[in-house]
Amino acid sequence: MTGVPEGEGGSVTLDMLKQIMAQFAKERDWERFHSPRNLLLALVGEVGELSEIFQWKGEVPKGLPDWKEEEKVHLGEELSDVLLYLVRLSDMCGVDLGKAALRKVELNAIKYPAAKVCKEMKEDSEIPAAPINNGSGIEGD
Ligand SMILES: [Mg+2]
Repeated sequence: MTGVPEGEGGSVTLDMLKQIMAQFAKERDWERFHSPRNLLLALVGEVGELSEIFQWKGEVPKGLPDWKEEEKVHLGEELSDVLLYLVRLSDMCGVDLGKAALRKVELNAIKYPAAKVCKEMKEDSEIPAAPINNGSGIEGD
């Protein structure tokens, strides 16, 4: 559709998306509109559209087994809008998003060591459940 070939194994890379978005904007003379601020606001708007899909549905199970096919297609479209604006914003800010994301994962691993986090979660699960307020004004009855 875009004339840009998929990567090896059919995978799509951030760099491919970056190039596609740059070409897309250039062909439409939209580069002049793609300032970091404009792209950030567009990204936030798309996050709003993504949020609308989940609005009022309550908690939904992983894999969305009860969703209609057209709902999943719409979800994919809004997720893509968010990703594409994020990739474009990163490009216009001179940030290598892939490298920045890998670095952030490493920083998170240092901040949240798996062994420590798992130990803390296990300890938390051993704490008795908090009394439930049933609306009577008396907790735990
Ligand atoms: Mg959208």
